[in-house]
Amino acid sequence: MQIVLPEDVKKIIGMIQKAGFEAYAVGGCVRDCLLNKVPNDWDITTSALPEEVKGLFSHTFDTGIKHGTVTVLLHHVGYEVTTYRIDGEYEDGRHPKEVSFTRSLKEDLLRRDFTINAMAYNDTDGLIDLFGGQQDLKDGIIRCVGNAEDRFGEDALRMLRAVRFSAQLDFEIEEETLKAVKKLSGNLEKVSEERIQTELVKTITSDHPGKIRIAHECGLTKVFLPEFDVCMETAQNNPNHLYTVGEHSVRSMERIPAKKELRLTMLLHDIGKPALKTTDEEGIDHFHGHPAKSAEMAREILRRLKFDNQTVDKVSRLCACHDVRIEPGKKYLRRAMNRLGGDLFPDFFLVQRADVCAQSDWKRKEKLDQIARNEADYKEITDAGECFSLKDLAVNGKDLIDAGIKPGKEIGEILEKMLNLVLEDPENNEKSRLFELCLPKTQENGEKSKKKC
Ligand code: ATP
Ligand code: MG
Repeated sequence: MQIVLPEDVKKIIGMIQKAGFEAYAVGGCVRDCLLNKVPNDWDITTSALPEEVKGLFSHTFDTGIKHGTVTVLLHHVGYEVTTYRIDGEYEDGRHPKEVSFTRSLKEDLLRRDFTINAMAYNDTDGLIDLFGGQQDLKDGIIRCVGNAEDRFGEDALRMLRAVRFSAQLDFEIEEETLKAVKKLSGNLEKVSEERIQTELVKTITSDHPGKIRIAHECGLTKVFLPEFDVCMETAQNNPNHLYTVGEHSVRSMERIPAKKELRLTMLLHDIGKPALKTTDEEGIDHFHGHPAKSAEMAREILRRLKFDNQTVDKVSRLCACHDVRIEPGKKYLRRAMNRLGGDLFPDFFLVQRADVCAQSDWKRKEKLDQIARNEADYKEITDAGECFSLKDLAVNGKDLIDAGIKPGKEIGEILEKMLNLVLEDPENNEKSRLFELCLPKTQENGEKSKKKC
């Protein structure tokens, strides 16, 4: 297999070599090239010490100088150049507590997590693959470099990274590696939520989010998402369903585009169900009020995992409304857009469709038809630029004050009435018409208006 280095990467490697040091592209970029994928970024590993690297390039900055990383800027792109190193225990995403530099490439490759991530390449020496990384890539296997238990003992996050790579690449985790994950999964507790979040997001936004089942089977989700484990154990004896709450949620993730908010929503949309489960005399299970409960729990969980406020808010709101049924008809949809918030559309439809498609096929056609009709209404509403919130109303508070309404509660009440008329019929969204319909007197002539709201 041929690796073609970008010109700037060649240049950096060449300059370091000319100064008498070794340098290679390493890790994810080599792996991705061998898989014929375009790498996210190009990391370079070198025998030169950070100060020596800095001496060679005119534009550098200290990214993680203590850990040996210098960023070299070429044509406005940053390349991380890291000195060969031997790692101590890891404390955050990329930085072990203590490192020692080495002049041996082999030692640097030995510290890396998986064989497929421990290959290096330059045009002089070709591919350096000391642990069978190429073969594992061919066979579709995630295998630790060295003894799996030792490697997970040094850094427990690597267990979740194994799941993440298996999801991104659709690979199997090798037997010894998997056994070690099962044995040591509890150690994930020592890892920061920020690091866990990164790997969780990469797992569920991959092409194979269903691999989260492995994290569950090995005891990893029990550490950072125990609520999900409860869902995996909660059966749903109900005509709408075929699977446990957890399995349904995983299947729904597989049926929605790979956007972070959407995948998180599907993962968590029913997370409140176990707490609310009741079984009627016929043995049918019910989960009354679960969307609100799921929304509340999603908020707590996402905060705990240190997600940003925007993600927490969006996911929680989508969870809260995932079960809302909207009658066909544009006025109903305008009302729903007003009530739920226009920003949740069209994601709301994607959530509903994924949810339905992960249920039993009982009434599936009717459910999907209703969503499709709602979507058609949505398209017409947005194509026509129809108003569904106060911000697009043809009248605002200032207009009412100018028309002689005293500032205060009444302004809000009148605007609300006007908005309701517009949601009912967008033709009403004209200043004069709304004044005529909703104000006791028009300002211009002081006459009593004929109609009142
Ligand atoms: P991505 O495409 O997500 O960037 P990547 O393989 O480049 O994938 P990074 O997290 O960017 O993954 O790490 C770069 C390289 O550093 C890895 O390929 C691996 O060699 C090494 N590495 C990263 N994290 C660890 C870790 N926790 N333990 C051991 N080696 C690691
Ligand atoms: Mg990377």
